[in-house]
Amino acid sequence: MSEQRTALVTGANRGIGLEVCRQLAARGLRVILTARDRARADAAAASLRDAGEVIAAPLDVSDPRSVSTLAIDLSDRRLHVDVLVNNAAVLVGESTGVLETTIDDLRATFQTNLFGVILVSQAFVPGMIARRYGRVVNVSSQAGQLLSMGTYAPAYSMSKASLNAFTRQLAAATQGRNVLVNSADPGWVRTAMGGPSAPRSVEQGADTPVWLATLSAKGPTGGFFSDRKPIDW
Ligand code: NAP
Repeated sequence: MSEQRTALVTGANRGIGLEVCRQLAARGLRVILTARDRARADAAAASLRDAGEVIAAPLDVSDPRSVSTLAIDLSDRRLHVDVLVNNAAVLVGESTGVLETTIDDLRATFQTNLFGVILVSQAFVPGMIARRYGRVVNVSSQAGQLLSMGTYAPAYSMSKASLNAFTRQLAAATQGRNVLVNSADPGWVRTAMGGPSAPRSVEQGADTPVWLATLSAKGPTGGFFSDRKPIDW
């Protein structure tokens, strides 16, 4: 039997993150389901009781103390993070033009969507490098694709383009260590963020992130994927 891997998913109390937890647990991974609200993390983990092994933990990715507290707590419990799904994000000022977007909105957006991802990665990727196994999935968006970028949600779109740059940096920094780092576009999904008119279910939205989270050692690194296929940056 191969070793059981442990996955940590951020922003997993609802939406795509919750479904990623469900699918990873169903594949036999131990899942650390994190949410910024402890009670919501507990309730979400309880809802996945039948899927597999799911452990709830509080994590606000925008708060360095929250990140370090979780890292210490997991280390004390001898839980090593092998797979990291950076899913948590906020969408602020969706219909505000780039010339009207406030620095406060930009700051709040980057705090979670970029700096939060970097903080959590800095906490857990060094262990992956040391153990020579890691899968990092940055849940990005087509909104962050430079090729097709227009006027939609400037703060959010720029944060996701920056997130994609972080994917490239981290993939290059971990090259050759069996740590595979990729960005995933889940498509337009029916969640609180995507709204009720979105064409995709959470099951469909979670598919590419889960595929990237469970890549074999021969899998890609440093790419941007939609429906399991590479797409342009
Ligand atoms: P969602 O339903 O709005 O869920 C977002 C999650 O992020 C929530 O659990 C939220 O927690 C959490 N979160 C926000 N700030 C956080 C923080 N500082 N620390 C920890 N957790 C935080 O959104 P979703 O549609 O599932 O989106 C998941 C990912 O897919 C995001 O990265 C999003 O950008 C991406 N995406 C979504 C779509 C779409 O159509 N839905 C399309 C492209 C990309 P609370 O419940 O506490 O607020």
